[in-house]
Amino acid sequence: MGYQIYLVEDEAKLNEILTSYMKHEGWDVVSFLTGAEAAERIDTPPDLWVLDIMLPDIDGIQLLKEIRKNRAETPVIFISARNSDMDKIMGLELGSDDYLAKPFLPRELIIRVKKILNRIHSQRKQEIEGKEWINGYQVSFSKRQVFEGQEEIVLTSKEFDMLTMLIQEKGKALSRQEIMDRVWGADEFYSDRVVDNLIKRLRKKLPNLAIETIYGFGYRRS
Ligand code: CA
Repeated sequence: MGYQIYLVEDEAKLNEILTSYMKHEGWDVVSFLTGAEAAERIDTPPDLWVLDIMLPDIDGIQLLKEIRKNRAETPVIFISARNSDMDKIMGLELGSDDYLAKPFLPRELIIRVKKILNRIHSQRKQEIEGKEWINGYQVSFSKRQVFEGQEEIVLTSKEFDMLTMLIQEKGKALSRQEIMDRVWGADEFYSDRVVDNLIKRLRKKLPNLAIETIYGFGYRRS
């Protein structure tokens, strides 16, 4: 998967070295020697910024503020020669995702970039697949599948419908009638027992789900 990285570093030699290391990883690197050049590209954000704090024209922190204003979620790795804790704190408070004090080995930067790109990759994958973590289970709504670790917990169609409703209505007291209407459809008529039986099966298959019984009424997922 191709990732684009914007590198802002005014030291030409260092810029060249970091660019070449990152390109070697197969990433599309756009390098900037000035803050002003980089600022022009804020509207077309990359997957990740690598940002020097000490720039001759624009301060890296100022640039980060602009980046955050535009695309709050784009990760930023700060690189800086000012190795004081103050810088570190400032960087983190502004939402920089990582921080490297100069001098560092190019390999160190590569490792940190990889870590963030892996995170982006799995986030995007989850978004595409519509997966969500529910009480330690991974639920894919698009595929109607539930996993615990690598293992799939096979649910029937009604069990999955029930699970979906319990996820959507977390904390709400659901009467047996409401559950029946929503899982089976208002036109169908069954006894309350079908609701109880389905809950029982779901509890057995997904014991971490925390389904409470509300006596004489129905159920609630806490
Ligand atoms: Ca600099």
